[in-house]
Amino acid sequence: MAVKIYAMTCGWLTSDVSMMLAGKSGKISFPVPAYLIDHPRGKVLFDTGLHPQCQHDARGRIGFLADLFSVQFRPGEDIKSRLESLDVDASKIEFLINSHLHFDHTGGNELVPNAKIIIQKKEWEAGKTPEFIKANGYAQADYDHGHLIQQVNGEHDLFGDGRIVTIPTFGHTPGHQSLKVRLDSGDVILTADACYLKETLTNLHLPHLVHNRTEMMNSLLLLRKLQKAGARLIYGHDPEFWSQVPQAPKEMS
Ligand SMILES: [Zn+2]
Repeated sequence: MAVKIYAMTCGWLTSDVSMMLAGKSGKISFPVPAYLIDHPRGKVLFDTGLHPQCQHDARGRIGFLADLFSVQFRPGEDIKSRLESLDVDASKIEFLINSHLHFDHTGGNELVPNAKIIIQKKEWEAGKTPEFIKANGYAQADYDHGHLIQQVNGEHDLFGDGRIVTIPTFGHTPGHQSLKVRLDSGDVILTADACYLKETLTNLHLPHLVHNRTEMMNSLLLLRKLQKAGARLIYGHDPEFWSQVPQAPKEMS
């Protein structure tokens, strides 16, 4: 049985382009992706999008970040509803891999209550440290729900068969990770925020806000290397690229 990826859009955000590409002016609207990976050993989520409260009270949920990001998010677009439309019960998801702890990646964690979360140790520790919580704009309400947490260091092969492997791509946040999924058609890398846009990688153009510039640059160089070796990259928040990614219930092929 093959591994399948289903791409889901859990809302859109609009911000200054400089948030994505430092120094550039203008506005950009971009998707908030989450992915369901169907593996013979279980269903795995990669990120959970925004919290449903953002549909009617974004400021109440994300606070000062609402000044930087305006939220376009309607009922039916949250992770639980997206999964329902695939006939998947969110409460039965066993594995949730979080790329990092930002609100647009962990907002729906609460809706996936019985999953074990797989996250880099550095990221989880940062999410428990007041100084890092503040510096990275984390909100514990997004990820502090008593899930079983598996903290990993670097690459982690979820089922030991090379099909779903976490790739450390630090820099955007202290312990950011991307995900490599081996489809029958080849390797796909879900970059998440290690690489917002195609242009980020082409021009090695970093965003305005970065936890560690050197680490983030090294992560981009790693993604380039994997791409050169044949992997297909799915960028974290690229609206143009995303328009060509088949959306659930279609699978990515
Ligand atoms: Zn993001």
